[in-house]
Amino acid sequence: MCKIIAIANQKGGVAKTTTTINLGVGLSKVGKRVMLIDADPQGHLTMGLGFPKNLRVTLKTMMENIIMGLEFDPREAILHHEEGIDVIPSNKLLSGMDMSLFTVEDREKVLKEYLELLENDYDYILIDCMPSLGMLTINALAAADSVIVPVQAHYLPLKGMTQLMKTIGKVQRQLNPDLKIDGVLLTLADMRTKLARTTEDSLRENYRKYIRIFKTVIPVAIAAAESSAAGQSIYEYDKNGTVAKAYAEFTREVIHCGEKQRNKHESSFSR
Ligand code: ADP
Ligand code: MG
Repeated sequence: MCKIIAIANQKGGVAKTTTTINLGVGLSKVGKRVMLIDADPQGHLTMGLGFPKNLRVTLKTMMENIIMGLEFDPREAILHHEEGIDVIPSNKLLSGMDMSLFTVEDREKVLKEYLELLENDYDYILIDCMPSLGMLTINALAAADSVIVPVQAHYLPLKGMTQLMKTIGKVQRQLNPDLKIDGVLLTLADMRTKLARTTEDSLRENYRKYIRIFKTVIPVAIAAAESSAAGQSIYEYDKNGTVAKAYAEFTREVIHCGEKQRNKHESSFSR
């Protein structure tokens, strides 16, 4: 069974793309079949894995085929990265999609329909969302089984979180009642500062009742920023560094929380 995870936060620069890449490669390293979807017209995921930004066949082309009801090869857009993951790329041409979706019937479910054509081939599909709560992000949430929310560890984003949770709640009510929140991932933490530690403590304290916060915290390290310029995951670029270690640990947490959800699901079936 394939698990589809949206990596979402309408704030930019919180390490959504970095998390999608390194969770994806982390899962692939433990034998999972992984597909990454670049759902951001900025194309950072595509470029961060070393692919060119002017590709002709992209996520946009695939979604257009769905919208127009054409017969098409859903695998035509797939790129293979040497670290063992598959990628559906995007570039700035995707930015027209948010608008053109507005006139489409079932406009929130275009991405879902596309992923249904691919999901049998993968254990995990990770969707790297754009920094907004527009129609593309709604499409990602409608297609997903769960959401992971990266948050900058030194910043208490109460207002932004409320907006995101409202959107997730609306998607659950109207489009995807089974959507779960896997949790919040604290990223870009400068562990040397007292501020980061107090923010982390108060985040955990304040949110514990409402939402899971992953145990793993991703530290700040220049190697993480450099790896995307090299088109590599952090495991390839700096395999003994703190960020590689943290993402490997985070990968284990994600697998574990998937197993727990599955067990719950199965036991509620057998009842
Ligand atoms: P988003 O997708 O949420 O906009 P990115 O993953 O692109 O965020 O990360 C924002 C910037 O921070 C990028 O330049 C990225 O290379 C850098 N970055 C991400 N994670 C780390 C980290 N752990 N340490 C240092 N820089 C990081
Ligand atoms: Mg991004």
